[in-house]
Amino acid sequence: MSSTSPDRALELAQRLAAVKTRISDAAASAGRPAPQLIVVTKYFPASDVEALWNLGVRDVGENKAQEAEAKAADCACAGLNWHFIGQLQTNKAKSVAKYAHAVHSVDRPGLVSALAKAMAGENLRRAEAGVPGRGPLECFVQLDLRPAADAAPGRGGAKPADLTALADAVSQHPELRLAGVMAVAPLGEDPGAAFGRLQELSRVLVSRYPGANAISAGMSQDLEAAVQHGATHLRIGSDVLGPRPAVG
Ligand SMILES: *Cc1c(COP(=O)(O)O)cnc(C)c1O
Repeated sequence: MSSTSPDRALELAQRLAAVKTRISDAAASAGRPAPQLIVVTKYFPASDVEALWNLGVRDVGENKAQEAEAKAADCACAGLNWHFIGQLQTNKAKSVAKYAHAVHSVDRPGLVSALAKAMAGENLRRAEAGVPGRGPLECFVQLDLRPAADAAPGRGGAKPADLTALADAVSQHPELRLAGVMAVAPLGEDPGAAFGRLQELSRVLVSRYPGANAISAGMSQDLEAAVQHGATHLRIGSDVLGPRPAVG
């Protein structure tokens, strides 16, 4: 594969350092441990993923199944965790089961069963090939944080009222591990208010599943608000990679 230019590698190093500083400042002012940074590499080439890996990044996020599978196959980055963060069709579960460490967009029961079946199939194929199977797929239930009456377009996710049923569904499958909740802040609202609701929903989930204490929240624009409200995972794209290319 093509390698990154020295200029690009330097740009990524500087942007990554700046984002890490923002995260540690936000964590210090919230009095919280710094969350896990997931660098969202969607629309950017595999060479950028490798450059980030060289800078110590071990968690990257992608939102399109085809692009993610191709990049994961292209990157020879040992120990790199791929997080799937976009809307996922059930017919793409098999693809995701090949490489993904986590899916942050679990939003309906049909996707839960498709992912469990795909992981079981992948492990069977690996057993037949004499290679080790995959550990459980980390699953975040994505929630739609819009206030009920809001007519603004949704940014994905299940209704909060469906959280428990989805969590129960995930927990039934040994191929899956219930990690916690995920959300994108709704447009046109203070992200802090929305992430506060997410934190409440996380408490409800943790009271039923104590191990499912992850909160995936916060992007380039709103990471400080997410950290303030207990985010354990941040999904940061443009502030690390630069503006996304117009055509992806
Ligand atoms: C693209 C994307 C991100 C990263 O957004 P930036 O604004 O580029 O930091 C985070 N989460 C999801 C679900 C995304 O699709």
